[in-house]
Formats: sequence, C-alpha cells, structure tokens
Amino acid sequence: MSARVIDGKALATEVRERIATEVAALKEEHGIVPGLAAVLVGDDPASEVYVGMKHRATEKAGMLSRQLRLPAETSQEDLEQVVHELNDDDAIDGILVQLPLPDHLAPRPVQELILPDKDVDALNPYTAGRLAIGDPTFLSCTPYGVLEILEHAGVQTAGAEVVIVGRSNLVGRPLSVMLTLKGRDATVTLAHSRTRDLPAVCRRADVLVAAVGVAGLITAEYVSPGTVVIDVGTNRTEDGKLVGDVAFDEVAEVASAITPVPGGVGPMTVTMLLQNTLEAARARRGLPRR
Ligand code: NAP
Repeated sequence: MSARVIDGKALATEVRERIATEVAALKEEHGIVPGLAAVLVGDDPASEVYVGMKHRATEKAGMLSRQLRLPAETSQEDLEQVVHELNDDDAIDGILVQLPLPDHLAPRPVQELILPDKDVDALNPYTAGRLAIGDPTFLSCTPYGVLEILEHAGVQTAGAEVVIVGRSNLVGRPLSVMLTLKGRDATVTLAHSRTRDLPAVCRRADVLVAAVGVAGLITAEYVSPGTVVIDVGTNRTEDGKLVGDVAFDEVAEVASAITPVPGGVGPMTVTMLLQNTLEAARARRGLPRR
C-alpha cells in the first residue's frame, strides 16, 4: 500500500476534545449549556444506533442531550407539533429529526419547520439556500466532516480538481457548493448515475469523493496516481461487514491518501453535529461564532 491512511477516528477524538473544552468554558463564563434534541419516530434499528451514538457523544461533550422517541404511527401533525415545541424551548439550541421517517410521514414539511437558528442538521431549504448564495449558516454534518478531513490532512483545495460521485441533498450537492465557495476555490465536477464514462471523469480528480452507496464501485481504474480519495459510503455486506464505496486495497496502491471505512468520514459526521450545536448555542445568545 502506498497511500497514507487518514485516521478520521483520531481526528474526531481531537475535535470532540476541543469542543468539550469550549462547552466547559461557555458554561463557566456565560452559564450556557448547549442543548441538542433528537427526534426519532418508530424503531428502525439503524436509526436507533445513530441516535444513540449522537446522544452519547453530545453528553460526553458536556452538552444537554434530549431524545424524543415517538411511536411509528405518529401523525404528521403530532410530529410537527413536537418540532414547534422544540423551536420554542430555550434550553434547546439544535434540533434534528432522524431520517428515514416512516413512509406515511413527509420529511420536507418537518425540516422546513425547524427554526433556521436551530437547524444543526442543515436540512431546512433556507439553510441550503444560504449555502447556495455563498453566505452559509450551518453546514450539513457529513460534508462539513469531509472539509475538516481535507484541511487536517493538509490537502489544498484552491485550484484543485475535485470530483464528487453522488449528488444527494445530504452529501454530494452541499459538498460541491462548499468546495466552490471563495476561500476553498476548488473546481468541482458533481457526477451521478447518468455521468458518461465515470472512470475517465474520476481520473481527472486531484481529490475524489465517493458518496454513492454502492460497495466497491470505485476501483483502481477510477483513480490517478497521487489522488486523495475520500470514501463517504457506508454499505453492509451480506455477512454484516461495513464497507465503503471504494475498493480500499487496490485504490490504496494508487492514491496518495485515503480514508478507510469504518474509521474515516463516519466519526466526523457526529463530531460536526456537536460543532454545529455549539455554534448554535453561541449565535442564539449573540456570542461570536468560531
Ligand atoms: P443517495 O441519496 O442514495 O444518493 C446516491 C447518489 O449516488 C445519487 O446521486 C446517485 O445518482 C449516485 N449513484 C448511484 N449509483 C451510481 C453509480 N453506479 N454511478 C454513479 N453514481 C451513482 O445517497 P446518500 O444519502 O448521498 O449516501 C451515499 C452514501 O453515503 C451511502 O452509502 C450512505 O450510507 C453514506 N453516508 C454516509 C454518511 C457518514 O456519516 N459516513 C452520511 C451520509 C451518507 P442519481 O442522482 O443519478 O440517482
């Protein structure tokens, strides 16, 4: 293997320690304890795991974590009422509604209800719009984590060719906007399932980000020597193993740096949720953001 393996877990630990220190200072100097509320509807096992992880990380950072578990048959109206109450609750700085919701519930109206000041998951269209016009409020957590990884790994984005595979509103699309903002200055290609000759497009990249959800899609054929490869994908194999979108072993022979799955982008997603909650707590009290 020639590639440097970027340790997202170690970076996440470092950033979470810094966040915990800032939370302690906020409490001591201003009597503020940042609060995060997570709403979980139904009993999807994967969602249970994610919400549990977020809860533990929030408490470990010294913040208030509130979990609201609603039955699977909750109505749209009742779910929206819960969000209204959290919007009005001064102890809560950040609200997230865990996806996916049960089929009878529409996520968009719920996301639109979350106050932009508390939209730490950055899924309200207002938040996406602010990013699109180059004046972002909160950055959605997974792309924000990718930016932190690139910065930590010393990867220059200015002038770089970045290819992102996957154009979802959760990952690929917001990441493409973030990387083209002034200050990051990358030249971004946003590829998807209709992209012609994907391997050739990917080989143009200085930085290649895979956010697809297809195990092992990105093979060595997609990667030029020296490319930095960031694997956002999380896929379960038949035997229950967690793997990314990148065929790690063969790509690591060609790339200059690569994130593993698990232990790459995943731990940074929860970390950036904590960062957003801290920023929300500061901003809501008129304190400067980081
Ligand atoms: P998504 O909404 O399903 O979007 C997948 C994207 O990949 C779509 O734009 C789709 O193209 C594109 N795509 C699908 N098959 C393709 C192919 N064969 N070639 C090229 N493009 C293809 O998924 P998502 O929510 O963005 O998630 C993507 C992956 O990241 C998943 O594995 C997910 O579990 C993972 N993820 C991880 C984290 C984390 O914290 N580590 C967070 C979020 C997501 P079209 O638009 O043309 O359909």
